[in-house]
Amino acid sequence: MKAVWVSAHGGPNVLEVVDRPRPEPGPGEVRVRVRAAALNHLDLWVRRGVEGHRFPLPLITGCDGAGEVDALGEGVLAIREGQRVAIAPGISCGVCTACCSGRQNLCRFYGIFGETRDGTDAEWICIPEQNALPMPDDMSFVDAAATPLVFLTAWHMLKNRCALQPGETVLVHAAGSGVSMAAIQIARLLGARVFATASRPEKLEKALELGAEMAINYAEKDFTRAVRDVTSKRGVDVVVDHVGAENISKSLRCLAKGGRVVTCGATAGPKLESDLRLIFFKSLSLLGSTMGGLGDMRDVWDLVAAGRMHPVVAEVMPLEEVRRAHELLESRAVFGKVVLET
Ligand SMILES: [Zn+2]
Repeated sequence: MKAVWVSAHGGPNVLEVVDRPRPEPGPGEVRVRVRAAALNHLDLWVRRGVEGHRFPLPLITGCDGAGEVDALGEGVLAIREGQRVAIAPGISCGVCTACCSGRQNLCRFYGIFGETRDGTDAEWICIPEQNALPMPDDMSFVDAAATPLVFLTAWHMLKNRCALQPGETVLVHAAGSGVSMAAIQIARLLGARVFATASRPEKLEKALELGAEMAINYAEKDFTRAVRDVTSKRGVDVVVDHVGAENISKSLRCLAKGGRVVTCGATAGPKLESDLRLIFFKSLSLLGSTMGGLGDMRDVWDLVAAGRMHPVVAEVMPLEEVRRAHELLESRAVFGKVVLET
């Protein structure tokens, strides 16, 4: 089968489309003929490498995917052959306290397709049955592949980590990213008011279309000042920030008393410098978040499947153009997801 393969870290040129053996499903697994696979920022880290972290190279990349089930392993109960499914990206041990209480992302053996084991950028993948998310008939493989990782991430951040309440105000940074595209919609669905930041006019426009009531061009106006102005100096209750450390220091200054900043990434740099006095005087919280539980995956999947929210797909291209797909994601020139068809 065709698969995207990384055997050493580096630029987009380390991505190779190679021939790999088609996998056979083990007990409790289903095999998916992948039709679409979506890129995530995690793919960029896997390709580039992360200082002090070892990825199990060589590896087939890709965390998100969707396709048809074409073979069942022994003991599969709920999924049938021919079923169209999306792939939940998280894998865990299934027996520890975290797993048994639905917090699989806190399992010490937690991993993600395309990061800790072979991923979805291939014609076939075998996944545990519980990772197969049945698709509604009217959903495309491209939309299905573009949904799981970013909607799970944003859902867990806002609903669980921040316990977002109806009527609260949320600032979502980098509106064009996949997580932010999902976060804007989830915050609205949970009854919050949303402000978004982006740096290009077309991205600001799209953020408004998704439900933000104000879009701030951070390249033109300091976003802390814009937030102060729009909230009559009060600040916002929640900031969704995966931009990086420097941005987070400013995000903390945007918060109302009792506010929380939640982060799931540090695209632009990891080392945080901030003022603790600000944090305790105003009873602020800085919350970290990675992925989410399988139950949360299904909750947010059902909302997308029911048409209450939708992934924004920026570009679809063939698997063979994976290098260009990485360059496009890295350039931050797109609003929403880049999807590969296999
Ligand atoms: Zn576990």
